[in-house]
Amino acid sequence: MDEQQWVKIRDILDGKYTGEIVGIRGWIYRTRSSGSIVFTIIRDVTGVIQATIKKGSLSDEEFENAEKALIESSVKIKGEVVEDPRAPDGYEIRVKKFEVVNFAEPFPIGEDQSPEFLLDQRHLWIRSRKLTSVFKIRSTIVGAIHKFFRNLGFIEFEAPILQPNQCEGGATLFEVKYYDRKTYLSQSWQLYAEAGIFALERIYNMGPTFRAEKSKTSRHLSEFWMAEMEAAWMDLYDVIDIAKDEIRFILEEVLRYHKSDLEYLQQDIEKLKGIADSEFPTITYDEALDILRTKENMEIEWGKDLRTIEENLLMKHFETPVVVTNYPLEIMAFYKPPDPKNPKTALCFDMIAPEGYGEIIGGSQRSLDIEYMRRRLEEAGENIENYEWYFDLRRYGSIPHSGYGLGVERVVAWICNLDNIKDAIPFPRTMNRYRP
Ligand code: ATP
Ligand code: MG
Repeated sequence: MDEQQWVKIRDILDGKYTGEIVGIRGWIYRTRSSGSIVFTIIRDVTGVIQATIKKGSLSDEEFENAEKALIESSVKIKGEVVEDPRAPDGYEIRVKKFEVVNFAEPFPIGEDQSPEFLLDQRHLWIRSRKLTSVFKIRSTIVGAIHKFFRNLGFIEFEAPILQPNQCEGGATLFEVKYYDRKTYLSQSWQLYAEAGIFALERIYNMGPTFRAEKSKTSRHLSEFWMAEMEAAWMDLYDVIDIAKDEIRFILEEVLRYHKSDLEYLQQDIEKLKGIADSEFPTITYDEALDILRTKENMEIEWGKDLRTIEENLLMKHFETPVVVTNYPLEIMAFYKPPDPKNPKTALCFDMIAPEGYGEIIGGSQRSLDIEYMRRRLEEAGENIENYEWYFDLRRYGSIPHSGYGLGVERVVAWICNLDNIKDAIPFPRTMNRYRP
């Protein structure tokens, strides 16, 4: 059978082959037999379809193989496409040829298994319909981010993964032996991006990011993908507008291509459409504290960061993502400048997703003040020498500029309605999990 004769299950379910003889290749998803007939469900990347194998319609050997083949056996089958309301998706294949490519051993994963067991079996569990749907959507989200920035004329620009400096605080650095010295895995692309804008002005990147997160939460990974942008001549409010447009664009792309995946994941499509068509509010940290005080009876001391619990309570009052600006300066990274209108706060923002998915984007205008940054780094116990190259960027043609980073897995978890960020990446890494 040559390559062109293999059709995709989705096309059969869309009615493109009704009444025709087709070939499909895939894996047995479910199977049961009742004497002279075997009902199998076959899956490929595009979906699942019922195949009925009747004794007498094919050789005895093929029939016996069909009876014998366990789930996850790989198969090539050929048969007639029939519309049948009794079949799960309205179509079935009446099989005339059944070839087992590999008889699977008994599959270790059954129903109702614990999350930890499924993580141990991740190399097999990624075949599940749930994760298949998630990774298809993830691919579209990644593609949408590239498209979005390229459409705006941004140039893709790479930073090293092995970096001598911290960007987001020493506590979450992963140290790596570098010949006879030490270096760190990238916590962010940003500091190098700030060098890149002097050549390319508007740049973006999506790359692996490493943070040794010591708290176990359902939204922190040790290795995740961050999509970052940095732009010359832009201020805080310019990049906030871009961030909002980016999220709406991602939603539009997912809604365009993934209705059935979203349904499988029990995501509310109308709700996502509503968000894609909305303006997202921008409030300040002070206004967020006011909402918590007046509507939730929660008193937060000014100067404390918003924790998960506060973010979740705040988001009870919004249906769309919300941008929060002007967090207290002292709890912010060294490169975030004071807001001249309210110098105890920084020219920074977080975008918080609805329904408890937490911060999906963090960004800021960048400080241009070497003395200020030097002081902040010294207070944090950093070796200033490592930052001299970064200060050079303020010495040679310094300009206002801003940027932000979006957590790809946070966005995937939100859009895919996932309970835990671990399911937003094929092989999650956390404090307790680094295999398979
Ligand atoms: P958080 O307060 O949730 O730890 P952060 O303030 O450390 O986030 P940033 O340094 O602003 O995050 O990073 C930009 C984005 O990267 C965040 O908005 C988030 O979407 C994502 N992100 C940060 N840390 C992680 C992590 N450990 N796992 C997954 N995504 C992350
Ligand atoms: Mg963090």
